Amino acid sequence: MSSKSIAFVSGASGYIALHVVNELLNAGYKVIGSTRSDKKAAEVEKKFGNNPNLKTVIVPDIAEPGAFDHVFEKYGSEIKVVLHVASPCFFNTTEYEKDLLLPAVNGTKSILESVKKYAPQTVENVVVTSSLAAIASPKRLSEPNAVVTERDWNGVTWEGAGSDPITAYCASKKFAEKAAWKFLEENKSAVQFKLTTVNPGYVFGPQLSDDSVREVLNASCELINGIVHSKPGSDIQPLSGPYIDVRDVAKAHILAFEKEEAFGKRLMLVEGAFSLQQVADIINKEFPQLRESIATGKPGTGKELLNKNAKCDPSKTKEILGFKLRDLSETVHDTVAQILKVEGRD
Ligand code: NAP
Repeated sequence: MSSKSIAFVSGASGYIALHVVNELLNAGYKVIGSTRSDKKAAEVEKKFGNNPNLKTVIVPDIAEPGAFDHVFEKYGSEIKVVLHVASPCFFNTTEYEKDLLLPAVNGTKSILESVKKYAPQTVENVVVTSSLAAIASPKRLSEPNAVVTERDWNGVTWEGAGSDPITAYCASKKFAEKAAWKFLEENKSAVQFKLTTVNPGYVFGPQLSDDSVREVLNASCELINGIVHSKPGSDIQPLSGPYIDVRDVAKAHILAFEKEEAFGKRLMLVEGAFSLQQVADIINKEFPQLRESIATGKPGTGKELLNKNAKCDPSKTKEILGFKLRDLSETVHDTVAQILKVEGRD
């Protein structure tokens, strides 16, 4: 893959996708990114100083049939890599099928159909941003003796996805990822791309640029933002799970198509496990200006929660990636430092 090749990134305005676009541009790739509207396209272009190597296209709704056809009809003969990052990643809905499952699954199917129709011989690699949620549900992750690896799939059914938004999100990521692998299996002779999926745990770390720091952040960073803006004496949610820094997620998206060892693989992106209590401890320790004005919970008890959880074993992925991942202190520190800087409290 020549570094002058063109990569297409869906959902380019999102938290993770912006870091992916940044990583691609820094590595010398030309990028075409899709956003839902002209307004978002202009914002993305501005973030990159109107870099001539970045072009934007509009895809208003990935759930619509043929959503990506116009992009691949026009640019398919030039696009070598497709990174499908766009997918609903929010939980404030009760219409799970319409808002979460269908855009995730139909978006994945339709981008691959467009590749098959307009760029079957040009696109060499497809990277789909899946999730650890496709690998294991929160229930599985809370089983003390379980070991979770890249081979696993969550047990959520389409029908069972109706119980709550988290379960629906897990289903959306599983069925979308399965659709990608099935598409490749059924179209082996019609397309020539290699498929890699990237399956991150909870993604933390700074927004690509300070102007993305809003009152409410993307779903995963909002967990940290919630503690930064908590009231003293309020409870810390007993939430825990696997985490990874967004800058490492972006790097992994590039290695997913640059490194042959990653082709055909699911990359389970997990540095370690976190609990929100540990996050609160880090914030209280490292940001003296917040001390006594935010929640402390029960300092020092965060690790206990983790002992009751399943263990993730990302050793195969770490071997493929071959670079050191950022730890919890660094990712939490950098997330909070950016929020406080934007709020003038640094
Ligand atoms: P995000 O900031 O909300 O990004 C999601 C992107 O997808 C946005 O650009 C969004 O556009 C776009 N999108 C969603 N639904 C769409 C639709 N129906 N039509 C067109 N575009 C649509 O969240 P993120 O954290 O960066 O997530 C990016 C990807 O990473 C998702 O596939 C997510 O499942 C996956 N992931 C995230 C985490 C995490 O902890 N953050 C962990 C594992 C996997 P708008 O902003 O315009 O709606």
